[in-house]
Amino acid sequence: MRGDWPYHCRVEHGSSHPGAGENGELAAAVRSVRIAGRVTRRLQQSLQGSFLTKEDRSPVTVADYAAQALVSLTLPRGEAIVGEETAAALEGADGRETLDKVVAAVGSELPDASAEDVRAAIDRCSDAGGAKGRFWVLDPIDGTKGFLRGDQYAIALGLMEDGEVVGGVLGCPNLPSRLGRGCLFVAERGRGAHELPFEEDGGSARRIGVSGVASSGDAAFCESAEAMHSDHDRHARIAGRLGVTAPPVRMDSQCKYGAIARGDASIYLRLPSSRTYREKIWDHAAGFIVVSEAGGAVTDAYGRPLDFSMGRTLDGNRGVVATNGLLHGAVLAAAAAVLPPGPGL
Ligand code: AMP
Ligand code: MG
Repeated sequence: MRGDWPYHCRVEHGSSHPGAGENGELAAAVRSVRIAGRVTRRLQQSLQGSFLTKEDRSPVTVADYAAQALVSLTLPRGEAIVGEETAAALEGADGRETLDKVVAAVGSELPDASAEDVRAAIDRCSDAGGAKGRFWVLDPIDGTKGFLRGDQYAIALGLMEDGEVVGGVLGCPNLPSRLGRGCLFVAERGRGAHELPFEEDGGSARRIGVSGVASSGDAAFCESAEAMHSDHDRHARIAGRLGVTAPPVRMDSQCKYGAIARGDASIYLRLPSSRTYREKIWDHAAGFIVVSEAGGAVTDAYGRPLDFSMGRTLDGNRGVVATNGLLHGAVLAAAAAVLPPGPGL
């Protein structure tokens, strides 16, 4: 219905955005992320730290697989998905025990899904991405290490068209919000960013915007909780140059982008911790559009626009810097002073 909020949720008076209702394609994404959020929230309480180790030595849990299956099974059929996980570890006799747990978790929302459906749904997310066409970008559990610690994590779902991010939903089941525990961030290109309640009937959506902090000394900055994922030492040097006095807010997952988008913090630093690591598109697509549509700025550590068109990784970029926009130039200048010379590609 024209003029209606497209995400199945009331909008607060005065916060509707132009064009809402003409294009409700993110409504399906919001529904999928909420379903995956409910299941992973239950699993986080019961997993008690159990995980498998992937080839790149990163952890993966039943919840990562269940969330990817749930999003894949509930998004419109036939649409391409670039997802982080594959079902390889769920194959054969070795994978049976984990597969059974994943199917049970998926079954709490989709009781008719068979083991074969679940495996196929996970493997459906193997799209290569790139510069052409339309596809979803999914990190089923972004911040798995935080998830295992009982901390923040996000279900991150971006929508790409011809190499650009045009929409995104970030489900943050543990992020405190004025709407209660947990919230969703939703953004559509040209239509602003909104914060929604975690539960469908949990309250009103509100339009969000970045902070108005214009003096870097007054800024709060956030960074990953994991020292392996970005260069905390260089972050501290940047903060020193900027006169930031508040200690860093350490948080797992793309919840950091949500914090920037709603003005909790003004700077998110993610300087490369390794020469060889390439950022993954699923770790940034949804967060990028949420911050951009909230009025902020997102580039790599050298000030270059993030190029999501190169496949599954951000091959042309190194690190990420997100700010409220007002501080972006100053932050990049401070980063340039502490980064190794050249973009280091
Ligand atoms: P965060 O919760 O912000 O620490 O980010 C979690 C994401 O970091 C995971 O989804 C991984 O894909 C990603 N990651 C793993 N290793 C690295 C690394 N060396 N540098 C940057 N990101 C990484
Ligand atoms: Mg991730």
